[in-house]
Amino acid sequence: MGRKFLAGITHPDQDVEQIKDIGFNAIRLNIPFPFENEDGELCRDFLQTAGWIDEAAAAGLSVAGITANPGDMPDWAGKAGSDKFYRKFQDTCRFLSSYFKGKVVVWQIGNEMNLKNSRKPLDADEAVRFAVAGIHGILEGNPGVLVGINMAELEQEALYIYDQVYNKSRAGANYIGSDGYFGTWHKGGPDRWYEFIKQLYNLAGMPIIVHEWGFASEGGAMTPEELASGVYPCSVKKWRYTWGEGHTRESQAEYIRRIYSILLNDPRVIGCFYYAWNDGPMCWQCGQPDCPCEKCWGIFDTAGNRKPSWYAHRESLRHLKNNV
Ligand SMILES: [Zn+2]
Repeated sequence: MGRKFLAGITHPDQDVEQIKDIGFNAIRLNIPFPFENEDGELCRDFLQTAGWIDEAAAAGLSVAGITANPGDMPDWAGKAGSDKFYRKFQDTCRFLSSYFKGKVVVWQIGNEMNLKNSRKPLDADEAVRFAVAGIHGILEGNPGVLVGINMAELEQEALYIYDQVYNKSRAGANYIGSDGYFGTWHKGGPDRWYEFIKQLYNLAGMPIIVHEWGFASEGGAMTPEELASGVYPCSVKKWRYTWGEGHTRESQAEYIRRIYSILLNDPRVIGCFYYAWNDGPMCWQCGQPDCPCEKCWGIFDTAGNRKPSWYAHRESLRHLKNNV
């Protein structure tokens, strides 16, 4: 009998049959901060998400939940960085993991907190404290559940935060998470996972979950001059990096096949979540309809048609069922 590999997609449409038909057995989504006020009244957004989680879990999908980032905490939870703030976050995480016991099987504390924009208004050391408080809370609410953090890249600050959380704090995280957009936001291609997995495993000695991965199916690459200038991709409507035949639908499908051939065959990796479900009409970062950066990661196009990437997932995941 094989291990259960979580093959998932992040933020899909609420369509369990379509999700399962592709071969995914898991979804990943943001869990809104649950409380309306100090009395513990539950927010509408939270209850809506909880309803979707019930539906997904009833259909046999495993759920990975992302807690609030530091900036998502309400004002009444205390000044960011104060003792009260961390205590409230820990209490909230305890509530969440208990509330979703048996449904949310992976918890991720915040998202990509090596990025200043994700962890604001906290600095790196405060983000470590936030992560540790979250891990404690999650394990208090459900001691057996998977809990960890993810970084966007293995740059210096990411390595620092990983080391503090996994080695210095000993908070009890039991997997190490990572995102990887090699060939778009970051250099390289699927093969970079060989080195990445090794590094992540050396850092924590724990199972690895790839929280986000993907490849955009449109967009040219910057010239060496543009790349050297440090210009942001949305400003020139081009990617910093490319891979294979470039950013095309066929390359996107090939990228997906290559990634699965690496991740599904490495016993250190226990799950991965593809980004994204569908293409958008415009880049969600800059709002320009002709910017390729945040609009064409999907497995469906904007009209809801299947892209070659849809078939690449289905083909790669068709043997997975035997493994579950
Ligand atoms: Zn853009």
